[in-house]
Amino acid sequence: MAIATVNPATGETVETFTPYDDAAVEQRLALAEDAFTAFRLTSFDERAALLRRAADRLDADQEEIARTMTIEMGKPIGAARAEVAKCAKAMRWYADRAPGLLADEHPEAADVADSGASSVLVRYRPLGVVLAVMPWNFPLWQVVRFAAPALMAGNVGLLKHASNVPRTALALERVFREAGYPRGCFQTLLIGSKAVEGVIRDRRVAAVTLTGSEGAGRSVAAVAGDEVKKSVLELGGSDPFVVLPSADVAAAVKCAVTARVQNNGQSCIAAKRFIVHAEVYAAFTAAFADRMRELRVGDPLAEETEVGPLATRQGRADIEELVADAVARGAVAECGGARPEGLDDGWFYLPTVLTGVTPQMRIHHEEAFGPVATVYRAESLDEAVALANDTPFGLSSNVWTSDAAEQERCIRDIEAGGVFFNGMTASHPAFPFGGVKRSGYGRELSEHGIREFCNVTTVWRA
Ligand code: NAP
Repeated sequence: MAIATVNPATGETVETFTPYDDAAVEQRLALAEDAFTAFRLTSFDERAALLRRAADRLDADQEEIARTMTIEMGKPIGAARAEVAKCAKAMRWYADRAPGLLADEHPEAADVADSGASSVLVRYRPLGVVLAVMPWNFPLWQVVRFAAPALMAGNVGLLKHASNVPRTALALERVFREAGYPRGCFQTLLIGSKAVEGVIRDRRVAAVTLTGSEGAGRSVAAVAGDEVKKSVLELGGSDPFVVLPSADVAAAVKCAVTARVQNNGQSCIAAKRFIVHAEVYAAFTAAFADRMRELRVGDPLAEETEVGPLATRQGRADIEELVADAVARGAVAECGGARPEGLDDGWFYLPTVLTGVTPQMRIHHEEAFGPVATVYRAESLDEAVALANDTPFGLSSNVWTSDAAEQERCIRDIEAGGVFFNGMTASHPAFPFGGVKRSGYGRELSEHGIREFCNVTTVWRA
């Protein structure tokens, strides 16, 4: 895949970039190693001041960066602005909280005595140069939620961004540079995915984090495993959205639409499978299809647009194939199921609701990365939980019920890294984020995220 900015709303190639050659990558690896030698010795106060300045730069450049993202990957401009603001907030959160999250820990006195020590403490030290391989769907947020904690811990970052968002990648590199970070602390590598293996294997790279598809995760983790280097994987999701009889159905429908079509349907934590109890199935499904049908699809730079194009031509082809397979095997498109009329230049697809989905259909098992919802009817809570777990993924989940016992049952039995009741999954700097099963391993955000790329050091004194 060429490294290029191609506007998905028009199909126009805006700019093409020459990938870095071996010498350019080598220069950046050497710079990163040098930068870490000094940056690891900086204080939390110094790192926090830098990160706050980066947040200020994001605020100042919000409109420009938001437009860059919208032109590169098609998210509605309002959502793009909100993403930039969320990144600035996360930077400030880590600037404020990292010193506490990484403060020395002191084990119980009885355990210290039992070990024969006079004192023991645990210190969180940085690992070194961390490579981040990132996807295009939240092109700023995915990177910042890695970079803010990693830099606060004293690591330095190398970013291999998705090939279709090079301008956003370079914009973030500039933000850190203009904030005053020493040269080499955060660098973008304009390289294709084939060049990633060599960077992971380089002795100067200590660890790698990947957010993206299962296939990419498997390749990156295999190389990292072969090198015995730490890796974190944030992969795909096919999150359930369970609606039980005690739910406020109108509120659930409203939330379901947002949860499914946010980011034009291309979010790992989008609710993708709607599992509705028989008692409320008819009311939910009819209202859900009506609202999905009413969404305004169009130019993502227009303020009123609710759903823009898919980010890539291939992404739309993938969604079309999933829907065609389901319909051929008996699923019913209650709305959508086609391209919109009059938007022929870009990679648009209508918000779609499928019913009658069975395990024989690909969409039952695969991630639908576009504005396509599947709705299942469940006769009982047992059946709803079984359907929720009938997926290779386990990123997050949403359950609508006001019944405390049902909530406890879902917390206990749904196989996912999150359970959100009467609302939709969203990330927040203070809460851990990540999945189980084929959704990956490790966590981002909160104290769990910042500690992933630390050397947890036991200090024992006789
Ligand atoms: P992708 O094709 O896997 O690409 C992600 C990144 O990995 C890109 O930088 C890509 O580079 C690189 N890459 C692809 N194949 C690789 C390989 N074999 N070795 C090394 N690097 C490789 O995913 P995407 O289409 O951009 O993003 C969509 C996927 O990401 C969905 O499955 C979504 O659910 C998941 N996602 C997960 C989370 C989460 O937090 N769990 C968040 C967002 C998205 P190129 O662009 O150069 O190919």
